[in-house]
Amino acid sequence: MSSISGLSGPSQSSISQSTTPSTTPSTQWKNIVIIGASVAGHTLVNALIPRLPASYRIVLVERNDFTFHASCVVRALVVPGFNVTQFVAPVTQETVFPAGSRHRVVCPNSVVKLRRNQVWLEKEFEGQDVLDFEMCILATGAQSPAPIRPMPCTSLEEWQEALVQSQQDIAAAQSVLIVGGGSCGIEVAGEITDMYPHKKVTIVHWDVGLLHPSDSGGNTRHTYVPPKTSQKLSNALESQLTSRGVRLILKDRVDLESAKKPGQWGGQPGPLPGLCQIPLVSGRIVEADYVFNPTGNRPNASLVAFADPGALTTNGYVSVDPYFRVRPGTQESPLGGQYYAIGDVSNTPGWKTAIAGIAEGEALAVILGDVLRGQRPQPYQRPSHLRNSTVLLGSKGGAAIMRLPIIGNIRTDWVVKKKDRDFHAGTNFFARFRGAHRIAPTIPVSVSTLSLNGRTHLQNSGSNNQVNAHSPTAVRHAVAPRVN
Ligand SMILES: Cc1cc2nc3c(=O)[nH]c(=O)nc-3n(C[C@H](O)[C@H](O)[C@H](O)COP(=O)(O)OP(=O)(O)OC[C@H]3O[C@@H](n4cnc5c(N)ncnc54)[C@H](O)[C@@H]3O)c2cc1C
Repeated sequence: MSSISGLSGPSQSSISQSTTPSTTPSTQWKNIVIIGASVAGHTLVNALIPRLPASYRIVLVERNDFTFHASCVVRALVVPGFNVTQFVAPVTQETVFPAGSRHRVVCPNSVVKLRRNQVWLEKEFEGQDVLDFEMCILATGAQSPAPIRPMPCTSLEEWQEALVQSQQDIAAAQSVLIVGGGSCGIEVAGEITDMYPHKKVTIVHWDVGLLHPSDSGGNTRHTYVPPKTSQKLSNALESQLTSRGVRLILKDRVDLESAKKPGQWGGQPGPLPGLCQIPLVSGRIVEADYVFNPTGNRPNASLVAFADPGALTTNGYVSVDPYFRVRPGTQESPLGGQYYAIGDVSNTPGWKTAIAGIAEGEALAVILGDVLRGQRPQPYQRPSHLRNSTVLLGSKGGAAIMRLPIIGNIRTDWVVKKKDRDFHAGTNFFARFRGAHRIAPTIPVSVSTLSLNGRTHLQNSGSNNQVNAHSPTAVRHAVAPRVN
């Protein structure tokens, strides 16, 4: 860490008045700009701080004023009373960096343009809307249909309202159709059948089994392809869901095109005006009054598409080399050299998960540390634990697979119970906030404290941070001075 500390430039809303002001001009530091303060970007921040020479500082730009642990969202979409305060944290100077740090959080603010050694900001920072940098890392993630992830610049209150609406709509539905049997659709089916055992649930999925058990080809620099999932995992989830009464329709798709024709249901997800006949591509019909459609996850790569479309794969991911450097599409590309990409936005091999974002953030910190010291970095080797996967079916089921050398895939269902405790929010989310103000969940995340016979009650964990769990702004008040 640098011995230089304090503020420089005009004060920002995200920088505390209590931070020691300094007259040192900001130009004394070279900037490492990180775009996106979710799991990949924030992990990189933490791992990079001890590796940075004193002449460099991190500038972390985030467009939403909060970030969240996405694993919990499947429960928040379904279970009444499962509140965002359990898996959301504010992105501020104080929650991310220790007091007196030279590094800066710039939030809420968006990067709107990528130039060679320069990004353009939506709003001014230190009196300018242009930020010069030595290195820029894209950790801009992906967008899912709202409210699975909030739309850009949505407030916490708006997102919470949309999640509560989803809980109410699902509670009121008789028959739920889930479009796609990927992990999000499967986990939502698990939550619904846990909470409402008598509700009709149908999953329509294109593959021969749930998830992606059939081989869809290898990842290349031109196309991102998710790896094939274990048949054992797929079979275990299928048998648990069918024993709960879920109807699985495989090797078929919901006919979203014909849904847009006059007189049809319209193709929009959410509640329908009563039970509707929903056609599948095969000609079969499913009757439903609520449609959940988690498909259509898209990498947030429009900045790259604008600066250099040739740097994208055919399916819209930022193409990177084994050092996470963006592969420019042309020699004149402004992205050649100093741009890197990690997490959901990049075409790094493997599933797009939070644990992959953590591994990539940590690995890129080592690479950048080596580059800054003038040493030759090692290419990224994907850790073997990223081949494991766990899918929860509410609090009462699910399956996990661990991939062992020689032996191959084995079921490790004790991991399911471990994940259900808090969806790993303690270790994979709250622990990464290392700022002057510590963030901690104030309510236990386990659903066992919620929703008894459909009636909801929340218990406080006994922490000193007493908050009203029903207040969407509660998380803002849940920060307490660090105690360590
Ligand atoms: C419902 C759901 C459940 C999941 N469950 C699991 C699970 O159980 N286990 C698991 O490992 N993974 C899970 N995942 C996947 C995991 O959440 C993602 O892989 C992970 O969030 C990707 O992290 P990221 O940092 O790359 O991107 P994101 O989390 O998408 O974050 C990107 C950030 O960049 C910001 N941003 C984007 N553009 C700009 C811009 N121009 N300027 C400023 N900021 C910008 C965004 O606001 C956002 O905060 C789940 C995902 C979902 C949606």
